[in-house]
Amino acid sequence: MAVYHGPKCRQCRREGTKLMLKGERCNSEKCAVDRRPFPPGMRTSKRRRAATEYNTQLREKQKIRRIYGILERQFSLYFETASKSSGVTGEALLQLLETRLDNIVYRLGFAPSRSSARQLVLHNHFTVNGKKVNIPSYRVKGNDIIQVRPKSEKLELIHSSLKAMKEIPDWLTVDKVKLTGQVVRIPDRASIPVNVQEQLVVELYSR
Ligand code: SF4
Repeated sequence: MAVYHGPKCRQCRREGTKLMLKGERCNSEKCAVDRRPFPPGMRTSKRRRAATEYNTQLREKQKIRRIYGILERQFSLYFETASKSSGVTGEALLQLLETRLDNIVYRLGFAPSRSSARQLVLHNHFTVNGKKVNIPSYRVKGNDIIQVRPKSEKLELIHSSLKAMKEIPDWLTVDKVKLTGQVVRIPDRASIPVNVQEQLVVELYSR
């Protein structure tokens, strides 16, 4: 599946907020949003266009898409699936995105960012319930166990990332010694730590 390979910091500047796409760098003074808090292509923040309702909704969708590293087409498919679910569409959408294997690997602290997690998954470094899985979009379920494969246990990236990890969401558990993690339950909205207004996306697709 294709992914966006352009400059990550540019995406944050476009959305005018920190999307935390680069691991530790995002918390450092090198963060481009802190250093240049205006959209790419503009010299200052003064020329920002007045936001219309449509623009606000569109920007929120782009923000969510960029946070999870999803292209337009795949995002639409996620939305379609979410809208067919019995729950609240916005919450179901975030649940689908959160339970992607690359996101879970990132949340468990095995990778410093979602894009690194995606690379690790693609390169066959993990199993789910004992089976090798190299599909970043693989949907993880409640009680699934994610484990670093024995051949990858010495990977420096995984260990440095685990060391830097501060906390993980309450719906996940991790064993830093055995290099395993478990999805205790599918998270509700309150347990998903992303600062977005998913309702705006629902409104956008309802137009
Ligand atoms: Fe975004 Fe991180 Fe780049 Fe800052 S350092 S602009 S938060 S990707």
